[in-house]
Amino acid sequence: MHVYARIDIEWSAAPALIHASLAARQGWLLGAVIADRWLWADQTWQITPNHSSQRLHWQAQSITQPSLKADLLLELLDSVSSTHVRATLHVEWPKTTFKLWRYWQRRRWLHNELTNVLQHWRDAWTTQSTPSDQLAQSHPRTWQAFHTMNALDQLQRIQALDRRWQQFEHGQLPNLPYSQTDQLPKADLAVDLVYAGGGLGLIHATLMARKGLNVLVFDRHQVGCAHREWNISQAELERLVATGFISWEILERQIIMARYHDGIVRFHAAGSAVAPAELHLPEVLDIALDAGALLDYARQQFLAAGGIIWDNTSFEHVYHDPKQQQTVVAVHKADQTQLIAARLLIDAMGATSPLTLATQPFAGICPTVGTVLSGAEHDQNLGDILISIADTQADRQLIWEGFPGREHELTVYVFYYDQVGAKAKYRHSLLDLFEDYFELLPSYKQLQANAQHLRPVFGYIPARHALNKPKPLAGVLALGDASAQQSPLTFCGFGSFVRNLSRTTDLLEQALEQALLAPQQLSLISAYQSNVSMNWVFSRFMTPWGRPQDVNELQNVFAHVLNRLGYDLARRFFQDQMTWHDYNRVVLGTLAFYPRIMQVAWQVLGWRDWLRWIGDWLRFSRAAFIAQFGQQLPSWLVGRLPKPWLFQYNAAYAEWRAMGWLKSSPEHQSQALGSQPSIKQFG
Ligand SMILES: Cc1cc2nc3c(=O)[nH]c(=O)nc-3n(C[C@H](O)[C@H](O)[C@H](O)COP(=O)(O)OP(=O)(O)OC[C@H]3O[C@@H](n4cnc5c(N)ncnc54)[C@H](O)[C@@H]3O)c2cc1C
Repeated sequence: MHVYARIDIEWSAAPALIHASLAARQGWLLGAVIADRWLWADQTWQITPNHSSQRLHWQAQSITQPSLKADLLLELLDSVSSTHVRATLHVEWPKTTFKLWRYWQRRRWLHNELTNVLQHWRDAWTTQSTPSDQLAQSHPRTWQAFHTMNALDQLQRIQALDRRWQQFEHGQLPNLPYSQTDQLPKADLAVDLVYAGGGLGLIHATLMARKGLNVLVFDRHQVGCAHREWNISQAELERLVATGFISWEILERQIIMARYHDGIVRFHAAGSAVAPAELHLPEVLDIALDAGALLDYARQQFLAAGGIIWDNTSFEHVYHDPKQQQTVVAVHKADQTQLIAARLLIDAMGATSPLTLATQPFAGICPTVGTVLSGAEHDQNLGDILISIADTQADRQLIWEGFPGREHELTVYVFYYDQVGAKAKYRHSLLDLFEDYFELLPSYKQLQANAQHLRPVFGYIPARHALNKPKPLAGVLALGDASAQQSPLTFCGFGSFVRNLSRTTDLLEQALEQALLAPQQLSLISAYQSNVSMNWVFSRFMTPWGRPQDVNELQNVFAHVLNRLGYDLARRFFQDQMTWHDYNRVVLGTLAFYPRIMQVAWQVLGWRDWLRWIGDWLRFSRAAFIAQFGQQLPSWLVGRLPKPWLFQYNAAYAEWRAMGWLKSSPEHQSQALGSQPSIKQFG
């Protein structure tokens, strides 16, 4: 009689680690060794391992009763910050007359046996890798601070995130959990849109649900749970209010933690040949938001609009039928696989989205850690946007950011810029960066005797370094950090998302209405801005290349140049509103102020990236030229365009608007973002 059992279990460790640990064991996982014999189910067994890279496989034969055989298979499916273990146990009992009740009895027994043994190993693993045991020694300051914040559980999450990044950077990309088929699996539930990831995805989903679509959001943790704080500008928040998502009244009452009057950019200048220059940018990042409160509000609004929320649900796989333009998403929820049919999957799984990592890996990275703390000396009217207080430390130029929060709280981050993969200068680890943060914080801010860390904030913020838009998979649209369209200089992913929110939601609505869902059409629904993409060159000058003072020296050069070019240009530069003229003025201004820039650029970029920069500049010039003339097309002509062209035109128009390039208002260059006319839509 052949009986089998299968269970699925989430394991908070990387597949390679689980594989190495379990494969190294003598025998297999079931039963126990007694007097050198493997005993299980009242039998003595001979075990033969037959493992391969993603699978642990043991074949067993009873020594006492050779026709009794068993086979245990563990498939290790990478689900980015944990491993999804699918275990199957087959047992071939010697031939007897088949009895249904006996079959079910054995099957239930096998199922319990398998569940108990896997839970036992997973729990044993968790105990082995508890932060208390290991991290208290390797990262004592971090451990102590997290202990005080009552956040030790977050350390495991950070370790898992670090492992993912290191695997990704070593080229161990997850298998692409995506297949195209004309025979979609039968779904348990059908909706219009399904969102994987309930961070920024939840805000987007709320607007789509309010447009009357049937929307489901799931997250491997809780939908709408924030582990960072956001600062943003008044002008960008006006954009958010203009979408109708939230009113100023609610923002003021529940979400805005603090407003401050000035933002500072300042780089260390000791030992440098260039005098220090400070930039004052009062309207660039002047509001601190309570990200948790904003996402709580989004959750309530989403439910009120009829949205469906699945917490503690992990993404597994996407099946797409290109002919029907239908998608089925497999998720893991409450120990079961559930299938959801939708027209599109919105990938909002952030920087570790398995769909993005496997298809369109990022080029730049900004590892960021910090805390919200009380008892630090700080002027509550000031925000520190970019501050460096020393030259290169351990091959990284550390940059500090600090902005006031509620009461006398302060949010402080430290971060650095780097490329990823083989080009990375540094082995990235948020845990190591936290240890530096707690050690160096007193050199950035004076801490009072009663200073207290209240909660940690951390993450890898990704970026792309090119003008080319990533090509989406059919049936999948990425947004937020999964699409990484933020500036590789400021890394303001929330700001970029908000600035482009009406653009991406309106275009998505049009695409669904008009069935314009081919990958090249989906690629138009994006927060991509051609002016932002040019910033990759500036971000390369943030990564050390020679002497310890090089980065600071060059940043002081840029600060001098921006001060000379005037506040409006500097504001546009930092708010991702830079025009073609602005860009050229910055480049020429730098050349005039610091002719050595040519030599430095050659040293930093090398000939390949020099050529790439020239190619990007030509494409940027073409984009500026098209924007200049494209927005003047008469509406009678635009209205007659065929639907796909019209969609393309609307997408371009929305991008010009997001960049502040529309001339429809004469003062558009100096106006606040939010006061510009709303998206022009034809058709
Ligand atoms: C410390 C820090 C400070 C920042 N400060 C600012 C700022 O001041 N201003 C600003 O504009 N930007 C800021 N940013 C950037 C901004 O926070 C991010 O760009 C933004 O939060 C990205 O949101 P997201 O929803 O795309 O990704 P995330 O916030 O990473 O959310 C992804 C979600 O997907 C879920 N998920 C992942 N994998 C799966 C899976 N397999 N199955 C199911 N769910 C999954 C995760 O649980 C998570 O909830 C900061 C970033 C950091 C790290």
